[in-house]
Amino acid sequence: MTGTEISPSIEVIAALIAATLYVASYLSFVRLLKYPRNWFSPSLPASLVTGVLATFTVALVVLSADGLDLPALAITAAFFVVVFYIIAAPAIAFRPASRLSEFLAKHGEHAGLWLLGPALVAGLAVPNIKLQAVLATAMAIELTWFLRQRRSGRRRRLYPLNDHDRAVLEAQAKGDLVPFQRRNGIRELVLSEGTVSWNGCGKRTPPCPFNLYVNRLGLNTAPCCREHMKDLTHFIAACLSDMGVVHWLEGGSLLGAVREKGALLDWEDDIDISVLLDGDMTWERLATGIAKRGARDGYFVNLFEKKSFISISFDPPQRWPFRWERNRLRGEIRTDITIYRQAISCGEAVLERRSQKGAMPLTESGWYGVPREIVLPTSTIRFLGDDIACPKHAETYLHTLYGDFEKITYTYVDTEAAKIRGSVDAISN
Ligand SMILES: [Zn+2]
Repeated sequence: MTGTEISPSIEVIAALIAATLYVASYLSFVRLLKYPRNWFSPSLPASLVTGVLATFTVALVVLSADGLDLPALAITAAFFVVVFYIIAAPAIAFRPASRLSEFLAKHGEHAGLWLLGPALVAGLAVPNIKLQAVLATAMAIELTWFLRQRRSGRRRRLYPLNDHDRAVLEAQAKGDLVPFQRRNGIRELVLSEGTVSWNGCGKRTPPCPFNLYVNRLGLNTAPCCREHMKDLTHFIAACLSDMGVVHWLEGGSLLGAVREKGALLDWEDDIDISVLLDGDMTWERLATGIAKRGARDGYFVNLFEKKSFISISFDPPQRWPFRWERNRLRGEIRTDITIYRQAISCGEAVLERRSQKGAMPLTESGWYGVPREIVLPTSTIRFLGDDIACPKHAETYLHTLYGDFEKITYTYVDTEAAKIRGSVDAISN
């Protein structure tokens, strides 16, 4: 039997399998994006799974009894690269990224739909039903994504900006808010008849991409995001206390508690809490406990056992298969939990972690640590309106991380933006 004699029903079944393989590749790819969003390189096994699924999809489309369909090969391969780059751009742009990635991230809600025209032309030009099925499936996913984002975006509500938020915004915009808003795609900013407010995010809306606004544009953390960070911090602190886990406020969050007298840094982009695994408290117990409470109370939990790291986000977990599509969003409101363990380094009892924080020194094991006596037994400090655990000697701890911590430094804020906001902060202080 030659290729031209293949029955139509077999062709249709092959097209359905190709479409299913595309959906599997897509879901595997969006799951992979959790790594760049949490500052990690993608894991090898997860990358291989995605690569194999994408390769199977392309192979099924281009191979037939007639041999290799070269036009379909060129189109499918190019389409995969472009659509996956568009999907990944918001996660890539969590760090400073190329202009193209930043541009695509800014339009991440609808950029996939730009391929609608090319996909239609390619589908009509190349009479390959499997290719047409893949293109139609991809476009249906992009359209659904766009419609869901647009619908949930309507649930935003207005927040007033305080005087300092406005002063920083106006300084960064050099007094001209409209072109600044347009140039940077700040859709949350509402300017009408001399008033400035913020169309704020909520539990059921896409988050403000505030880490971009804070770190690239040098703005203050959005008022809605500040409110949700507070909610998230108290949820996690209560959760850890209930479980009997030794924990303490870490990094910039501890700095806010000490230097800003219990407030967030104005340019805060996440909350940091550290946890000690010791005695009965194993990774499994901690991870299971947090995951269960997150699912019950509506917070998204990401576990990274090999990195000794857990991130907990304000947005609620979605049902399968949409669970990982959240990784297409440009921002998130998050608390990072870093695991410490007890160790002896140079004859001294230390608490050490796998990743570096500030200027925390290396320990003998190649991790990074602080003397145990600085942290344990933990004390408490006022933070965002409630008491939360902190290192026993919080100021010594901060000195280990940041040296002269009373001096303001904008660690993750772009240089020019930091200089501008620095002059506003100096006046308001
Ligand atoms: Zn927000």
